[in-house]
Parts: sequence; C-alpha cells; structure tokens
Amino acid sequence: MKYQLETIPVWKAIEASAPCPLCFLADQLESQYVRFYVGDSVMTPEIRVTVNRTGFCPRHFQLMNDAGNKLGVSLMTATHIESIRERLRDDSRRLIRLASRRSPRAAKAYRATVAEMEARNRSCLVCDRMDHTMRNYAYTLARMYGDESAFREAFDASSGICIGHLPFVCEVARDSLAPRRREEFFAALFEIVDRDLEEIHGDLGEFAERFDYRNSRPMTEALRNVVPRAIRKLTGRLLV
Ligand SMILES: [Zn+2]
Ligand SMILES: [Zn+2]
Repeated sequence: MKYQLETIPVWKAIEASAPCPLCFLADQLESQYVRFYVGDSVMTPEIRVTVNRTGFCPRHFQLMNDAGNKLGVSLMTATHIESIRERLRDDSRRLIRLASRRSPRAAKAYRATVAEMEARNRSCLVCDRMDHTMRNYAYTLARMYGDESAFREAFDASSGICIGHLPFVCEVARDSLAPRRREEFFAALFEIVDRDLEEIHGDLGEFAERFDYRNSRPMTEALRNVVPRAIRKLTGRLLV
C-alpha cells in the first residue's frame, strides 16, 4: 500500500502521554468507525453494498449494538442477512455436490469452500478500515521520528509503544523506511520499549515487597496500578 503522512493525529497521541500512542489512536478510530456504521450514512446505497458484502466481526457487531441506534442496526443487519443467505445457498449447493466425491480435486474444492466461509465470517469493515489507517499512523510515527527532532525528543521521553503493536510497527517500517532510517528507528524503538519494561518490572517487584506486613513503606498510586499497566504494556488495548 502507498502510505500517507498523518502528522496531526500522531502528534496529538504523543502529546496525550498515553501508554501507547497506537492504542490511543486505535481506540479513537474504533469509536469513530462504529459511530459511522450506526449513523445515517449507512443507509446510502454504496455503503449498504459494502456492509452487505463484508459485514462485521463479533467485537464490532457488539459495539454497534451497544452504541444505541437499535433501528439502524436492525435494518442494516436484516439486509446483511439477505446477502448472507444468498451466499450460503451457493455454498450449500457446492458442498452437497462435493460431499460424496472422493477425488483429491473434490477434496480440495471442498476445503476451499469451507475456507471461504471462514474468511467471510472473519471479515469486518471496521477492522479493515482501522488496519488501513493504523498503517498510515505507524508509518507517520516512524517517519516523524527520523524527520522531526521535536517529535524524536517527545517520543524518546515517552514510554514508547506496547508489545502488542511492536511487530505491526516493525512490519510497516520495513516496508516504508530507507534501510539507514530503519536501523536508527529500530534501535531507538527497542531501547525505549526495554527501558519502560525495566521500569514496570522494578515497580512489580516493589509492589510485591510492599505487600509484606514488615515493609512499612506505603503503597503509592503508581504501584497500585502497576499490574494493569504491565498487562497493557504486554498486550495492548484489547484485554484491559
Ligand atoms: Zn499499542
Ligand atoms: Zn472488526
């Protein structure tokens, strides 16, 4: 894909001092896209067609249902079901035809049909749009780190990104930065992440020590939150 620079949101995410700027941006995008698909725009024919074809994953269907516009969601789900039924009719015709055939070719076609059904179950308009925009954000972060000294300073002083987003950023940077830039960015990124992990690890030790009744030092707010902070660092936004 051709990446686009999105400097304003990425700067805002760094300024927000979130534990991971990409988790922060993903949260924003998710609510924005969920709002979009439960809003009026979903009634326009072009959007209807894409909704009918792609649908939503369990998480995003649930978030849309929770967003409040029950009538909008019911209308959209009804037309999506019509389109699903049509495709299931094709699947069933194909599977029934292949069910009793023993040739390797028939077995391959059978597996391909099942794989297609599975892929359809996983497809999600919100996830697709988020993935596209998040790639631009990760690209912007890597580029700004190389191009803007103010951004580099701010990022160096931050806690970096979560471990959940680390492979994603490395993949995008591999595709989009010149080798020299990539080298510098990776070296800095892993160092920042490791520094934060070291700090969290130290705080976890301190947290456990202060549980001991012989330890008279009080539990601080930062220590009280260290376990969720550690989990968020390790997994990103979905589990906490
Ligand atoms: Zn993250
Ligand atoms: Zn989704």
